[in-house]
Amino acid sequence: DQGKHADLTGDLNPAQRAAVEHAGAPLLVVAGAGSGKTRVLTRRIAYLLAARGAHPGQIMAITFTNKAAAEMRERVAELVGRRSGAMWVSTFHSMCVRVLRREAKTLEMSSNFSIYDADDARRLLTLVARDLDLDAKRYQPRALAAHISNLKNELIDAESAGSHATNDFERRAAEVYVEYQRRLSQANAMDFDDLIMRTVELFQAFPDVAEYYRRRFRHVLVDEYQDTNHAQYTLVRELAGTEPTESGIEPAELCVVGDADQSIYAFRGATIRNIEEFERDFPNARTILLEQNYRSTQTILSAANAVIARNPNRRDKRLWTSEGDGEKIVGYVADNEHDEAAFVAGEIDELVDQGSVKYSDVAVFYRTNNQSRVFEEIFIRLGLPYRVVGGVRFYERREVRDALAYLRVLANPEDTVSLRRILNVPKRGIGDRAEACVATHAERERISFASALRDAVADKVPMLNPRSRNAITAFMELLDGLYELVDSGAEVADVLEAVLDRTGYRAELDSSDDPQDASRLENLDELVTVAREFTESAAEAAALAPDTNADNADNADAAEAVDDAGVPEPGSLPAFLERVSLVADADSIPESDGGDEESEADDQGVVTLMTVHTAKGLEYPVVFGTGWEDGVFPHLRALGEPKELAEERRLAYVAITRARERLYLSRALMRTQWGQPAANPASRFLDEIPAELIDWRREAPSSGGGGSPRAATTWGGRPGVGGDSAQARIASGGMRTTGFGGVRNDWKDTVALKLDVGDRVSHDKYGLGTVVSTDGSGPRATATIDFGASGTVRLMLIGSVPMVKL
Ligand code: ATP
Ligand code: MG
Repeated sequence: DQGKHADLTGDLNPAQRAAVEHAGAPLLVVAGAGSGKTRVLTRRIAYLLAARGAHPGQIMAITFTNKAAAEMRERVAELVGRRSGAMWVSTFHSMCVRVLRREAKTLEMSSNFSIYDADDARRLLTLVARDLDLDAKRYQPRALAAHISNLKNELIDAESAGSHATNDFERRAAEVYVEYQRRLSQANAMDFDDLIMRTVELFQAFPDVAEYYRRRFRHVLVDEYQDTNHAQYTLVRELAGTEPTESGIEPAELCVVGDADQSIYAFRGATIRNIEEFERDFPNARTILLEQNYRSTQTILSAANAVIARNPNRRDKRLWTSEGDGEKIVGYVADNEHDEAAFVAGEIDELVDQGSVKYSDVAVFYRTNNQSRVFEEIFIRLGLPYRVVGGVRFYERREVRDALAYLRVLANPEDTVSLRRILNVPKRGIGDRAEACVATHAERERISFASALRDAVADKVPMLNPRSRNAITAFMELLDGLYELVDSGAEVADVLEAVLDRTGYRAELDSSDDPQDASRLENLDELVTVAREFTESAAEAAALAPDTNADNADNADAAEAVDDAGVPEPGSLPAFLERVSLVADADSIPESDGGDEESEADDQGVVTLMTVHTAKGLEYPVVFGTGWEDGVFPHLRALGEPKELAEERRLAYVAITRARERLYLSRALMRTQWGQPAANPASRFLDEIPAELIDWRREAPSSGGGGSPRAATTWGGRPGVGGDSAQARIASGGMRTTGFGGVRNDWKDTVALKLDVGDRVSHDKYGLGTVVSTDGSGPRATATIDFGASGTVRLMLIGSVPMVKL
């Protein structure tokens, strides 16, 4: 009855149509990126309802991310309307939560069980390891958590973990696992991996329950099948079944789609075995290949083909389109990451100005979350609307907040909120009870929390046990050491380094096996970088000031300047904290999470910033792939590790194939990583793209020498300051190409902000104000501004001034 449902299949190619119309045996659709796999899944759902009499309640569709689930729900709703409500379209995890809440009684749980996230799980493991008297160094909670997670992904339960153990660590971890599960169930909680494993157990141990779901879900559809791990695969098999149940219910119709070349979650146990062995796992299975790509231009596809072709042991397939070559890929070699971000921002601005592109058509990809900061900062300053998907915004990240809380306490010992935040971070044995004792004491004596802590050291806090008191004493000694460092005039970055080292914060993350902790470390390193640059630019501002060498540094004016209420000394810790909170503050302005892209920012939407991992399955007319450097992308960790390198290459393939019309690929000659400038070579993936596909907008200087002239394309608006000084440093052979001349400084505002007494200004934080007086000149220029209710504030006019002259 093909003709009858032509509206659902008419615009599909024959292979896609076959997949949509296929009935009966399990079906695997394997195809390269952009060939319509997801489209086939959603059409198939619509077709099941319209042509095959399926009821929406009989359909279970599983996607990999919440974003993908929401998108699929939307696509299906467009096709079938409100009937879609009864379908289950969700991720593995939320599908399992739903089943488990419903079947909790069977598992002797109560249905309001809590779900422990990674952090909760680690907290619990810490307790367990402590109670089992395990050596805290050898049995780090993070390592234990990773190990137990791996076991759960393999469906190895606590009871059998011991028999799988092959070394001492694994044997002890197995004991921990048993106790950990006991405590979880005592707390009526499950961790993320439990959700999948317990659902599998449920289906396997209770055939009648399995039968209920089998009867109910006659169609099971799975997107991104290449990223399922063993537990998820088993769940799918239990759900759909391979044989009739005892009471004769046939297996559900299973349809999975995937692309082995896009498998990028091996670190979570995903295995392409599930695609490769589909026909063995599911007897009578049928496989359909899709070949034509409908997403990208041939240029983009040829680049993707060339890169992925370098991976060993893959089934060769080539993406092609009938749409023509389209534009060449634009390549750009930036001086440094700030230059790169400025290039991206400038290019977006221009594309939008030309009217051919909306902000929402554009995505900027990077390899790791910490790379977003440089983009966020310049986007904020240029007023480009953006949003960061997946991954908390930089200054909201827990580790960044923790580190800043230390600095806040060092700048202001009475900052109770920050003090309490770091009191037991990292864990140092000052528990909730001890904290409560100190807090009560502070209240009773009407003293600050900080003073109460001093009282605790002097044993003047009642009810405080000796262990806690010792811990508090050690903590206060730690702080005292840091106060001394600050008083000695150490640079902010060095203070920050000292905090991370002396507290053990860094060591704890360092020794963890959890990939999340690796990214926490990267974020902290990024924060150190922020601090280094801050000091550098303050120093350069001072060096460039006309009166640097004048001997009036201590004259009355200068003294007055330092004492001026509320204005931190340039380069100081308080100045740093002020700058950070302004950026962090502005940070929250451009977007509200989950906002409707289209309705924001006068229908232009917002630019999307995300990691390549998060971009899986999505598509954008314009894509910027940034940081294509060996050591960044591919990740440092993967260099010299063939398996990991292959996974990075698949990630590159995913990145390239997200682009529909225009693809930009950029790299930076210098990038500050781990607080140090590093010269990264071009990503090998760039070299793998045929040269004729790339139009280099700016290339690396061919002569290795530092003196070769470079187009200072990005310093627009501040000739003679930015470009020249940056260039001077390059010419002098120095490593640092960032610093005062870099675009991270607010060149736009800095240039514009020549203020005179009486001028009206608008400041992002303080609001409207009137200039009362001005002082200094050039980079030393300051203005004292009356902001009415927000008070009178003196501000430096160099650096990031979130203020405009009205
Ligand atoms: P990925 O591997 O990246 O997840 P995919 O195989 O799931 O990609 P889709 O996202 O389903 O691919 O499709 C890519 C694009 O091509 C979408 O914009 C989709 O609407 C379009 N498309 C797919 N098939 C056709 C077709 N037969 N005619 C026109 N457009 C199509
Ligand atoms: Mg897809």
